[in-house]
Formats: sequence, C-alpha cells, structure tokens
Amino acid sequence: MSSASSALSQYTLSQPTLDFLARSHGHFIGGKWLHGNAGGVIDIHDPATGLKIAHCAAGGAAEIDAAVKAARAALEGPWSKFTAAQRSAVLWKISDLVLANFQQLCELEILDNGLPTPLAQYVCGMVVPEFFRYYAGWPTKIEGATIPAAPQGKLPGEAISFTLREPIGVVGAITPWNSPLPMVMLKIAPALATGCTLVLKPAELTPLTAMRLAEICQEAGVPDGVINIVNGHGETAGAALAAHPGVDKIAFTGSTEVGRLIVKAAAGNLKKVTLELGGKSPVVVFPDADLAQVIPGAARACFFLQGQNCMAGTRLFVHDKVHDQVVEGIAAVARAMKMGPGLDPSSEFGPLISVQQRDRVAGFVEAGRKEGAEVVCGGHSPSRPGYFFEPTVLAHTTNDMTPVKNEIFGPVLCVQRFGDGDLDAVARAANSTIYGLSGSVWTRDLGVAMQMVRKIDSGQVSVNMHAAIDPAMPFGGNKQSGWGREFGKEGLEPYLKTKGVSMTW
Ligand code: NAD
Repeated sequence: MSSASSALSQYTLSQPTLDFLARSHGHFIGGKWLHGNAGGVIDIHDPATGLKIAHCAAGGAAEIDAAVKAARAALEGPWSKFTAAQRSAVLWKISDLVLANFQQLCELEILDNGLPTPLAQYVCGMVVPEFFRYYAGWPTKIEGATIPAAPQGKLPGEAISFTLREPIGVVGAITPWNSPLPMVMLKIAPALATGCTLVLKPAELTPLTAMRLAEICQEAGVPDGVINIVNGHGETAGAALAAHPGVDKIAFTGSTEVGRLIVKAAAGNLKKVTLELGGKSPVVVFPDADLAQVIPGAARACFFLQGQNCMAGTRLFVHDKVHDQVVEGIAAVARAMKMGPGLDPSSEFGPLISVQQRDRVAGFVEAGRKEGAEVVCGGHSPSRPGYFFEPTVLAHTTNDMTPVKNEIFGPVLCVQRFGDGDLDAVARAANSTIYGLSGSVWTRDLGVAMQMVRKIDSGQVSVNMHAAIDPAMPFGGNKQSGWGREFGKEGLEPYLKTKGVSMTW
C-alpha cells in the first residue's frame, strides 16, 4: 500500500475520488494532460492528518508559455466561432456536470482544503452550479450601444457610430487555497461568458478540484485550449504567468502582498489587472440589535472556513451595553463547535491549511496576549494530528495591536468596545485598516444602519448578516483589498473591451 493510499484508508471515499487521487497529475494544456515537471513535484496533503494524499507536477515558464500559446490559438480559432447562445449552453452544461459529479467534487475539496462536509456540500451543490447558471444567462445579453455622434462633422444619416464589446483575450488567472473550487469558478465562468480563453494557476496547496473542473468543462463542450491549467508554485509558474507578454489580463485572488508583485509583473505589457486581495472586516454591533441573531452571526462571520476567508469579520466592535453578553455568547458558540476532519459529517470546524498557517495564527495570538489582549476562549492548537487551531476570541484589543492590524487568516476574533457617541467615531474605528473588503452592521434602527452603510469604506456591507454573497451581487475590495469587482454584471466588465466604431458610406 502506498503512503497516499494508507493516508486515505481511514475514510470511506467514492471510487471516482480514489481513482482521481491515484492519477499522476500534470498540466492541462490544449485539452490534454501533459506531464512536464521541470519545476519538480508538489505533494498534496490532507490538512486534517498532515498526510500526503496525492501529488502533481510543478510547472514553470515553459509550461506557462505552452498554455498561453494554446489559449491564443483557441481564442483565434474554434472558440471565436461559438455563438453567444452556444456559450450559454456550455455554461449551463458545466453546472449540470458539477451536480452530476457532486460527491467526487465534495470529497476532493474537503481532502484538499479541510472544510467541513456541510459547507462542501453547499459549495458543490449550490454555490458553484448556481454561479455557472447565473453566468450562462449573460452571453446573449452582452451588448454595445449606438452613439449619437457626429464623427468628422457628418450629419445624422451620413454616418453611424456604435460600440462593440469584445473579449479581452487571453486571461491569466491565479487563485488561492482558502476556497479552491469557488475561486476557480469565479475566473472560469466570466471568461467563458465573454468569449475569453484562460490559463489558470491554482494554489499549489489545493489544485485538485481545479483540475477536475477543467475536465468537466471539456466534457461540457468547451473546446480544447480555452481552459488551461498549469500547476506550480507562485514564484515560478505564477510569476511567469503574470509577466507573460501573450497574456492580456490577469485576474488574481490572493494576498495584498502578492497582489503588489502581480501589478509590477503585469507592467511589462500593461496587462489589465483585477485584484481580489486581503481583508480585516469589521462587525459593528449596536445595543438595540437582536442578540439572538448577532451571537451566532458574528461567530459564523469570523469562524466560517476556520477564519481562512477573505470576508471574515475579524474585528468586532460592540457597544458597552451589550459587550459582555455578546463576547460571552460568541465564546460559548466557539467552545461548542465540534472540531474534526471535514470528512467526518459531524465536524463543524476543520483544520487550517498547513502547519505554517497554524504556526502563523498561533504567533498572532501570542503577540496579542503579550500586548495586553485577554484570551476569552481558544488560543491553542490541540494535540491531535493535522493542522487544527481552536476558534479564539481576544477581548480588550486596540487598533494598534498586532492581531488587529494584520490579516491573520485564521479563527481569531479581536473585540473592541464603543460607547454612546456619534456614528462617525464608530465608523472611523471600523475603517482604521488598510483593507476595505467586507463588513457588517447589526441594529434594528434602519437610520443607523443606512448611515453606517455609507460610512464604512469597503466593497461590501451587510446589515444583520455578514458576507451576503450572491452570484448577482458585485463583490470586491476598496483600499488595499483590491481592484475591480467579481460577481454580477460588473464581474463581466474586466473580461471585455470596448471598440468604438464609426462608419460612413
Ligand atoms: P497568496 O497571495 O500567497 O497566493 C495566492 C496565489 O498567488 C497562489 O496561487 C500562489 O501560488 C500565487 N503566487 C504567490 N506568489 C506569486 C508571485 N510572485 N507571482 C504570481 N503568483 C504568485 O495567497 P494565499 O495564501 O493563497 O491566500 C490567502 C489570501 O488570499 C488572503 O490574503 C485572502 O484574503 C486572499 N483572498 C482574497 C479573496 C477576495 O475575494 N478578495 C478571496 C480569497 C482569498
């Protein structure tokens, strides 16, 4: 028995999952799996045990170059002949095939990332299929406009001016590990809807479902070369993709730090760039809020995906009057969460992605402790296999503390309190971060809610809920949380270019 199959023997997995894991994974280029691994081999680990479960080739500049050439050939060849209605049909079919492969996708996503089963089921059974269906509706509705222009003094009737919306071209997509399949879906669906082609470099820690989705797209009728996957590390494959002169646009999701490197690398041929970056989102609780909603809602806002979530509500601002009740309530929810491997259906809280991530989170908690924060619950890594870390609440924090200033990307909630006073002071505290991705306000007073919605400087604000995501709702970051928007109609724009046409006769 190989080490990978013995690592899997503790689980009951479907045969398609076992078969997929046992394969030798390469790069998906021009519709074929190629096995160049000049960059070595990447071992893929189950974060719930730390054991190796599969491996894939690590590509570099040569594989990226081959993939970009395949994407260019498909853009100018078969894909350009697809009608808008045919692209819609393909997107709809992908949604059907995601549902048909539900079990396998759930299992692969959990083994790769560690998320709990109910969440994986929601992702693979609802989020991903609905997102592809939403974008299936768009190809036939991408329209230019007729413009009442008078080019070169032509009078009405002597000329016509209009705009064409065209695919931006070859898209380079780079995705993170925290929610692997949805991150890839967010790049593939708008690219297909607009008629672009794509070279994707998934996170090296979690490449499994990206590879499987590429096969599903092929099965759904996406021509060879339209979607290409190059596995590899960020500094090699990712950097080569960001710098490649044959790429027209980079769609990047990841850390703010790497986002800055992407901008520099893209400058060579002035690629268009969209960036979905880090966050440190506020959750603001007013004293009139319904605490029966607030307590589970704020706990979920922070601890969802073990806090490895860009939208996570990690800075909690609570009014003095309800502070103790809210903090104790959230700590009670945290203590009661059942920690365990995602593949155990009773687990509510899975592992972190890696030993490095777990140690990083522990370091932030320790820094907070030293700086005077009170650890109300959690704060430790339990002694068990895998990369687990307890959901943690830090009270009495201030904006200058290390865990408050930095995106921890782990299950650590930092609590601050506020008293009676003007809303501007509360908003200033909530906005005192370099990030501006998400945020939420909890109150029954719609006047207060609406004022706070306007004052919070982030791309998304929810009221009496947190991180309200929907395929139709634009999502993205202000400040150093990013450039541009994904989701909804706005999510198509970065994949399109506009050509102004004037014609006389
Ligand atoms: P990361 O920035 O380390 O890596 C993201 C991707 O970039 C990976 O595929 C990685 O291989 C690649 N990469 C790394 N260095 C590179 C380089 N020099 N050139 C090109 N590519 C490179 O991020 P991560 O740790 O994988 O993910 C966590 C981060 O992602 C967090 O900051 C989180 O907030 C952010 N995120 C943002 C959103 C959003 O929608 N705003 C969503 C999910 C995650």
